[in-house]
Amino acid sequence: MTGDFAPFTADDYRARMRHAARAAAGAGFAGLLVAPGPDLVWLTGYAPPAATERLTLLVLVPGADPVLVVPKLEAGDAEKAAGGPALTLRDWTDGTSPYAVTAPLLDARGRYAVSDDAWALHLLGLQRELPESAYVSFSDGLPMLRAVKDDAELARLAAAGAAADAAYEEIRNARFAGRKESDVAADLAALLRRFGHSQVDFTVVGSGPNGANPHHEAGERVIREGDMVVLDFGGLVHGYGSDTTRTVHVGEPTAEEREIHDVVRAAQEAGFRAVRPGAACQEVDRAARRVIADAGYGEYFIHRTGHGIGTTTHEPPYMIEGEEQPLVPGMCFSVEPGIYLPGRFGVRIEDIVTVTGSGGRRLNDTAREMAIVS
Ligand code: ZN
Ligand code: ZN
Ligand code: ZN
Repeated sequence: MTGDFAPFTADDYRARMRHAARAAAGAGFAGLLVAPGPDLVWLTGYAPPAATERLTLLVLVPGADPVLVVPKLEAGDAEKAAGGPALTLRDWTDGTSPYAVTAPLLDARGRYAVSDDAWALHLLGLQRELPESAYVSFSDGLPMLRAVKDDAELARLAAAGAAADAAYEEIRNARFAGRKESDVAADLAALLRRFGHSQVDFTVVGSGPNGANPHHEAGERVIREGDMVVLDFGGLVHGYGSDTTRTVHVGEPTAEEREIHDVVRAAQEAGFRAVRPGAACQEVDRAARRVIADAGYGEYFIHRTGHGIGTTTHEPPYMIEGEEQPLVPGMCFSVEPGIYLPGRFGVRIEDIVTVTGSGGRRLNDTAREMAIVS
């Protein structure tokens, strides 16, 4: 049900690397240094089995061919990556210094943006080699590098959203009362895979008081009649993320539970309606937060309203007070306000939303009314 997608080609990766090098130049950097992790996957399609003490580093310098510094024993794998044909490989062998191999590719006095995933070990090695060079993290220097998705990426994110929605529609029919949170979480993970996820990143099942802790995953607590249950789940479909939350209730809710759920639903709607090109990220947060504060629950909304999503399930842009970055068509992020009553229960509702030419479009569209489960 998640459709077929033609794999990204070397030309796609070439275009991304060109875009990244241009963005780096625009931000005043001499280039980009990209370590194994989501940035490298996005730029080259190459995911080494694990980041290690052996240096792998993509060097992107505007106007020059992209160079991948890679351990000799991994060069074959790098060559076979989808973006491999777009790369010049510079391999190095154990017993030699990978930093001495990298240094000639860089300007000795250059200022470079470095992906957040780079190991300190490697950056310190480069600094030893080029003491007058300077480095800034992507988070600080180029936070929006991957934030605007193109049509091919949007199609994958939409497929991921639809797959997560299908999992929710099924889990609503599952038995909750009398089962452990971890059992429902296992059901959710199986459903995510059944509907097309290749990787499940999280399956939060927060019942009763556990729902009041936004970081609770799923534990041994047995779910009971009368519990509010926060379900927050996601993973990757065709390399792109899903992340959605619905809060269900086991049996008939109280008037207070209904009221709080209604407030969160209205806040989520207000956050969604604030999404339009040119609006600052913080306006989405403010719109959602205002509804909750006006209802008297402001102190119980204890996290930012949203985060970006793409090849990872948490990345810029962040919908948070103080983030003045304007929204741009193609950005994708969550809108997920919540109310958390310590020791009692929590309610969160989350959709992934993308910015369109005139507003926002949800990539999750299951009913946001409180579902009654058994
Ligand atoms: Zn209840
Ligand atoms: Zn979530
Ligand atoms: Zn989220």
